[in-house]
Amino acid sequence: MPQDTYDLVIVGAGPAGANLARLLADSPLRLLLIDGQNEQTPKPCGGLLAPDAQTVLAEMDLTLPRDVLVDPQIFSVRTIDLVPSRTRFYARRYLNMDRLAFDRWLLSLVPSSVDVVRGLCRTVARTSDGYSLCYRLADGTENTVHTRIVVGADGANSTVRRALLGKRRDRILRYVAIQQWFDSGSEINPFYSCIFDEQTSPVCSWSVHKDGSMIFGGCFPQKQCRAHFDEQRRRVGQLPSFAPLNTQPKKTEACLVCRPRRMRDMITGRDGIFLVGEAAGLISPSSFEGISPALISSRALASVLKKAPDANLPVLSRAYRRATVRLRYRLLGKCIKRIFMYTPLLRRLAMKSGLLTIRVEQSDAADMH
Ligand SMILES: Cc1cc2nc3c(=O)[nH]c(=O)nc-3n(C[C@H](O)[C@H](O)[C@H](O)COP(=O)(O)OP(=O)(O)OC[C@H]3O[C@@H](n4cnc5c(N)ncnc54)[C@H](O)[C@@H]3O)c2cc1C
Repeated sequence: MPQDTYDLVIVGAGPAGANLARLLADSPLRLLLIDGQNEQTPKPCGGLLAPDAQTVLAEMDLTLPRDVLVDPQIFSVRTIDLVPSRTRFYARRYLNMDRLAFDRWLLSLVPSSVDVVRGLCRTVARTSDGYSLCYRLADGTENTVHTRIVVGADGANSTVRRALLGKRRDRILRYVAIQQWFDSGSEINPFYSCIFDEQTSPVCSWSVHKDGSMIFGGCFPQKQCRAHFDEQRRRVGQLPSFAPLNTQPKKTEACLVCRPRRMRDMITGRDGIFLVGEAAGLISPSSFEGISPALISSRALASVLKKAPDANLPVLSRAYRRATVRLRYRLLGKCIKRIFMYTPLLRRLAMKSGLLTIRVEQSDAADMH
């Protein structure tokens, strides 16, 4: 096989791509992983590992190294409706992580039998016997590789998904996620919050503390996203426990995030192209939790490809689609939860009822209603 020819090329080394490469490393397939992550500008993320993601890690017999974790660990979410002003606490068991360290750790588990290059895949073109991918390295050099199978693990703004569907046929909703980092100061209780403010965004925002920083972020429709974020930050900053938002941010980060609304937004691929993780539209439409769907879908694809690496492509596509049915229905189920979370009247009734809430003895009670 010539040097630049592979059986399978994975584009993107986030949780989905790195996990797939790790799981396929002992298969007979010749693999290339193209990793476009720039560590100077890592992927914006809340870095919370939800119970579902913890379960998948356990099922894959993986344990998390301590240096991936940050301070503090989280047992509840403070849910705040700005209008009318109401706060409730719900029990949640997240692991609070440094997201870049988590991605680095997953990538470090990929055995050396997988070729890994740091570069940005620019085009995916169909050839008579597969695909030709052109990618650009950090020094500007462009390379081309050939492959029978392409896996798009390249996140919300997926080049591979675009190559498969074309820009105009891809109807998944994409928001702009914006996050800012602040010094949290020693007086602030480092809580985790979920904030609803329908005047500035139709979906929720969040704050989370990490090793002395407070991150405040949210998802916004693309039009005037920055103005809406700034206005929301101003409004939330009026609550005493969010005082750090009135100081100069240490950094601002932004990226696209998908929000599937129906089954056809979640696309597993065809004709030798497979999509995993957020590139497939696999992310919770209510909480934007995307790490567990990335791990679950990549594990499903690895198992299909390992079982029958030489099977014809339509058979593999059907098998992968079947292997993700449960995950896709689970995410679809969250569309129903989304209706309760994001319809103001229903959310207010749910919060007012106190259903599933926990009682918290508050020290910084000034925000509470
Ligand atoms: C602000 C924000 C906060 C979030 N918080 C959480 C959270 O707390 N918990 C949670 O579970 N989920 C969270 N999510 C969702 C979660 O981050 C994603 O759904 C998850 O990372 C998806 O994993 P992935 O591997 O599919 O894609 P990604 O993690 O996006 O990884 C894609 C990889 O592909 C690379 N790439 C992209 N394009 C190319 C290209 N053309 N060529 C080569 N490489 C490329 C990228 O550099 C990246 O490394 C959050 C999302 C956002 C935007």
